[in-house]
Amino acid sequence: EERMVTGELQEEDSTVELSLRPTSLKQYIGQSKVKENLSIFIQAAKMRNEPLDHVLLYGPPGLGKTTLAAIIANELGVQFRSTSGPAIDRAGDLAAILSSLEPGDVLFIDEVHRLPRSVEEVLYSAMEDFFIDIVIGTGPSARSVRIDLPPFTLVGATTRAGLLSAPLRDRFGVLSRLEYYEAKDLCAIVERTADIFEAPIAKEAAIEVARRSRGTPRIANRLLKRIRDISQVRGETEISLETTSTALKMLQVDDVGLDHIDHKLLKGIIEGFQGGPVGLETIAATIREESQTIEDVYEPYLLQIGFIQRTPRGRLVTAKAYEHFGLKVNDS
Ligand code: ADP
Repeated sequence: EERMVTGELQEEDSTVELSLRPTSLKQYIGQSKVKENLSIFIQAAKMRNEPLDHVLLYGPPGLGKTTLAAIIANELGVQFRSTSGPAIDRAGDLAAILSSLEPGDVLFIDEVHRLPRSVEEVLYSAMEDFFIDIVIGTGPSARSVRIDLPPFTLVGATTRAGLLSAPLRDRFGVLSRLEYYEAKDLCAIVERTADIFEAPIAKEAAIEVARRSRGTPRIANRLLKRIRDISQVRGETEISLETTSTALKMLQVDDVGLDHIDHKLLKGIIEGFQGGPVGLETIAATIREESQTIEDVYEPYLLQIGFIQRTPRGRLVTAKAYEHFGLKVNDS
């Protein structure tokens, strides 16, 4: 089932997204703390003519980790190579990628926490001292061969830094957490996208899309694409607030950017457990979703807007969420 308001990449996003990716730090909207830090490290690395320290980018999907990784390579003036944790099955695959890099290149590994353990272990010496030991052959004739690598920068991405093993995490010199975007930054992203789409949008409509996109550029762009279609069919020369509201209603995105899955999660806790606290596993079993998905994809935004609280005894639905559904806390 396709979800309008998930930050995870969906099939329909991929072709559009390529044209929307900002290519320099200057074009990259928001995340000012992260940008400021990176810009200093990038300048310093260039002045010293050394590769940039390894960078770990973490935060919910759709916030711009891949985009930022490509920008880092651009700003450094080096090649960008991209792969993902689950795509590298064997140490030999990693060796092939690493030994094909040019000095100073950026290697981006998305979902870096999902590298197989045996591959991860090879990465340690590669990150630390730019060499790998590969075992060739099997049995008594097996021997270990050392391969020197060009110095490179690993940019890893993951949803939570805590998903990485400590030895891997410790080998990143720069850890940057991406935050949900503030409304004004997300509004600027919506306006930038509308510009690229050549679809003028009223200011209050852009604000509305931003407000209902869960602080996530990928969601904002996806919603805008659908809203633009509806606006066009209606013959508008500028996307209006009225069309935006109607379209979002059709897409079943509520006032604060929640959809039926969020509703199922919140109502599940309200109706089944008097609002909690209730353990994550119990919630997962009740609404038949994986607990990992709930924790990494659904829950972070609900925590952010204060609809859910984490307590030592589990998740608690707040009065604010009850109010959103027009319920009183002791109604349930
Ligand atoms: P992630 O890797 O964190 O899942 P992406 O880097 O793929 O997210 O970003 C998703 C889309 O959102 C990109 O294609 C880009 O168009 C847009 N985007 C992300 N961050 C920004 C930003 N800071 N400014 C403008 N657009 C952005």
